[in-house]
Amino acid sequence: MDAAKVRSEFDEKMMRHALELADKAEALGEIPVGAVLVDDAGNIIGEGWNLSIVQSDPTAHAEIIALRDGAKHLQNYRLLNTTLYVTLEPCTMCAGAILHSRIKRLVFGASDYKTGAVGSRFHFFDDYKMNHTLEITSGVLAEECSQKLSAFFQKRREEKKIEKALLKKPD
Ligand SMILES: [Zn+2]
Repeated sequence: MDAAKVRSEFDEKMMRHALELADKAEALGEIPVGAVLVDDAGNIIGEGWNLSIVQSDPTAHAEIIALRDGAKHLQNYRLLNTTLYVTLEPCTMCAGAILHSRIKRLVFGASDYKTGAVGSRFHFFDDYKMNHTLEITSGVLAEECSQKLSAFFQKRREEKKIEKALLKKPD
């Protein structure tokens, strides 16, 4: 097998793991997004899933949690030679954190046309003059990643409809 194929299979494996972490967020009523940080040898050194609502913390996005977890593991604020996998395109806040963390590579699944900062809505890494370059791979298991999100929002809309109907006064 050639190196590119080995790499893309590994990317999918890690994205599947990130999808499993997204389920943990969903079980808590959070938007299902998961993130995994991997070192050069392919070891998982950080994991995260959305916890903003549970922790009353607007910064508790999956990416931030995974970066914090990885930094703690490495005992270093710079996460050199690591790859961050995330099921959804990072927002501007997470893009900023990714920049400061100095990770080597970012891999994401679904695009976020509302708040995505890696090409869909904003072009954070194009605009920013960096003295280290970030390698970006998008669209890994994009279908599964976006499916999980749309199923979540669909379910939430239906729940709201039922709630509304239950709260409605009888005529
Ligand atoms: Zn974010």
